[in-house]
Amino acid sequence: MKNVRDILTKYWGYTSFKPMQEEIIASVLNGKDTVALLPTGGGKSLCFQAPALAMEGICIVISPLVALMGDQINTLKERGIKALKLTGGISFDELNTLLDNALYGNYKFLYLSPERLQQEIVQNYIKQMNVNLIAVDEAHCISQWGNDFRPAYKNITILREIHPLVHIIALTATATTEVLEDTISELKMELPAVFKNSFVRENLSYQVFKQDDKLYKTEQLLKNNQGSAIVYVRSRKNSVEISDQLNSLGISATFYHGGISAKEKAQKLQNWRSGGISTMVATNAFGMGIDHPNVRFVIHLQIPESLESYFQEAGRAGRDGDYAVAVLLYNEYDKINVKNQFVESLPTTPDLKKIYRTLNNYFQIPYGEGEFTKYNFSFSEFCKTYNLNTLLAYNALNSLDRLGIIQLSQEFGRKSIVQFLISSEKVLNYFEKDATTSIIGKTVLRIYGGIFEIPTSINLDLIATKTGQSIEAIVSILKKMERDHVVELVLQITDATLTFLVPREDEKTINVVSREVEALNRKKTAQVNSVLHYIENTKTCRSVQLVSYFGETTASKCGICSVCRTQSSNLTNKEIKILSSQILALLEERNLNSREISEKLTFAETDTLKVIRLLMDAEKIKINPRNQYYLN
Ligand code: ADP
Ligand code: MG
Repeated sequence: MKNVRDILTKYWGYTSFKPMQEEIIASVLNGKDTVALLPTGGGKSLCFQAPALAMEGICIVISPLVALMGDQINTLKERGIKALKLTGGISFDELNTLLDNALYGNYKFLYLSPERLQQEIVQNYIKQMNVNLIAVDEAHCISQWGNDFRPAYKNITILREIHPLVHIIALTATATTEVLEDTISELKMELPAVFKNSFVRENLSYQVFKQDDKLYKTEQLLKNNQGSAIVYVRSRKNSVEISDQLNSLGISATFYHGGISAKEKAQKLQNWRSGGISTMVATNAFGMGIDHPNVRFVIHLQIPESLESYFQEAGRAGRDGDYAVAVLLYNEYDKINVKNQFVESLPTTPDLKKIYRTLNNYFQIPYGEGEFTKYNFSFSEFCKTYNLNTLLAYNALNSLDRLGIIQLSQEFGRKSIVQFLISSEKVLNYFEKDATTSIIGKTVLRIYGGIFEIPTSINLDLIATKTGQSIEAIVSILKKMERDHVVELVLQITDATLTFLVPREDEKTINVVSREVEALNRKKTAQVNSVLHYIENTKTCRSVQLVSYFGETTASKCGICSVCRTQSSNLTNKEIKILSSQILALLEERNLNSREISEKLTFAETDTLKVIRLLMDAEKIKINPRNQYYLN
């Protein structure tokens, strides 16, 4: 362990471990399979990086996101540690070279996705390597009970076959007992040492408000925010709209969702990280690996589908340890909506049978055949052909994917996105030049009103139907418009590709998995109910509710959540301290009356008044004849 301490200072310049890190590292070095369960920001990376550096050989790191790998590789490189990653989009030659380097070049870390692991060449190389540790980051992705289930994570066990003697460290911030147990058994870990740190976040105030005017409340919360903020919404469309509205209210914001290009995502993230833009309005695509210290607010404008995801998203606030607020705003309609979206539309076994049969008919798969055949798949056309309820069909296809019956490519559910870059007069002039361009262009403008202001997702099928043009013709015109700098374009030509993974056996195929289907449905329903229960329980401390959901039953009241605040008309000492320093900071800038002060803060007005009085008593502040307070 002395060695590890040296490594800690030599490579990282840290003087001490974060909670649990030392125990976890010791367990790895003692040759135990280890599970590290630390909240986001808890310093999980170090738990496999430090011991791997202390041992001979190379550490194989499985990570779900290319972006996460990139960040980690860069920080390792900055510290003079040799690390490389196998991302998507590299040629076979490049792959060979990289793997050669990993094998012969004294590399300490090889990062790859679980999908990569499927490739034989990758497996063959790893076989020859002197592997010292297998690290599985975001390990909960292997559990189908979790929210981030990634079927490809099941491939990880191949590493166990290749290197049966090498130990595994699994790292995650997701803590439900069920997911944990599932993760351990899926990874075939033997009597692992499990380390779990408390999930209590002392500096985070969880707040829940029933609010009809959510935008107004958001504005009030964010208008004096000095740090960064995240506003979570459910849909891509909402993210664009809310971001627009906040900007028009003078709050600098941008939006982020799964449908924008990687380049744009990186740009937006960069702007937000640097503080150039304060507020990121995002869907849950903005998530894993977001490690930004001074997020002061995480605001949910819609009800999340599970406490697991809520806890993770809210937990992105206050990672620097300073006071931060996680607010969930909801109204009665949201409650119904979340049920409709996540419970009522859960596909039952008969639904799955129907969709599966329809799908096979659609592609004319003969009975007993179809295994490993791959098709281009237009979801909207499929629904239109059979007049299917889109939400249910969408969920059913996702379930079939989860159950390993079909495989949908990652683009599933994405659409093409267009935004006009020049003024409407110029666009009309441009259309004059060519009749087909004019028909297609004008149809797009007619269907999508706001397309001049915001990137808008378009439905190629719909445009094809309206114009009588083929999809290919539309695509080629859009591409030409992109080349001419008339539009910005993110193109998704087919909605997805679909691969059948098992031979068609209709009912039988589904019967095999029906128990799993029912269990998943029960699980989803329970998750939504837990969220609703959390919202409605205004008696128990928010922090206590959340951590006890994750099995932590000994936590005490936080004193700063919306429940604790209304319960104790007596402010806690901690709250008084926070509130005092906030008031003093405000008055440092300029003199304010009590109304102005309480408007700028997130505490209840009565509490603010109380602390103003305390500060007066202590002669830290005084009041002038215009009823404004100033620093003494
Ligand atoms: P996690 O994966 O658990 O979310 P990370 O591994 O990304 O957390 O670490 C979060 C932050 O904490 C990083 O900026 C990392 O450099 C920092 N960190 C990790 N260990 C220590 C330590 N012992 N002392 C100080 N900072 C640390
Ligand atoms: Mg991490």
